[in-house]
Amino acid sequence: MIEILNPTLLARARETGALVGRILHTLRGRSAVGTSLLDIDRWTKSMIDEAGAQSCYVDYAPSFGRGAFGHYICTAVNDAVLHGLPRDYTLADGDLLTLDLAVSKDGVAADAAISFLVGDEKPPESVEMISATERALAAGIAAAGPGARIGDLSHAIGTVLSEAGYPINTQFGGHGIGSTMHQDPHVPNTGRPGRGYKLRPGLLLALEPWVMADTAELVTDADGWTLRSATGCRTAHTEHTIAITDDGAEILTLPGRAQ
Ligand code: MG
Repeated sequence: MIEILNPTLLARARETGALVGRILHTLRGRSAVGTSLLDIDRWTKSMIDEAGAQSCYVDYAPSFGRGAFGHYICTAVNDAVLHGLPRDYTLADGDLLTLDLAVSKDGVAADAAISFLVGDEKPPESVEMISATERALAAGIAAAGPGARIGDLSHAIGTVLSEAGYPINTQFGGHGIGSTMHQDPHVPNTGRPGRGYKLRPGLLLALEPWVMADTAELVTDADGWTLRSATGCRTAHTEHTIAITDDGAEILTLPGRAQ
């Protein structure tokens, strides 16, 4: 099902998006050498509760997982990239941390992810990989607007990732979002321009370029959730929820949005 939001729902989506952006920004500021992933999960729960919002993750039990997720945020370190189950791990200098958060408030969900380096150590390959996903996201957003097709966004995202030298996995990508976290249309991180669903004002999309340094193959961790690079290489992931507007696209999950 593809949802097109009316102006009332779009206003709510802006509020949920701003909340997700603010929580991620706060968590980034607090994530330091010595921070446990379980601390980050706990802080996330309290910020969701304080805002009167609901976690999209805690009861999430898709076919590929192992029962309900049971946590409030995805925390993926280094070779972990998607669905990172928070665990008792203490962050070290130079760790590459990805935080992926989806929250629902007043019936509308928003979803965003950030990757960043913890502490003072900044391995150049990691800096470049994070930057590539950020540039790919910006390219996908720039390609979005009424009349554009999903393939235009996929192509824009995939071109940046490929030119940066990263293999692209097509099992997991972006998605529609609205009353629930994951909806049609699927937005692969590579594709052909001019193909696929034609975007309309009021559609919300979560665009999420992610890469692994030297492979497109994932392996599932023993925890049943966390997806890691098959080679053990580092990974990065960047995501925003956007709304298609009358003349382009609006990013809903920026940290600095006014209430
Ligand atoms: Mg997402």
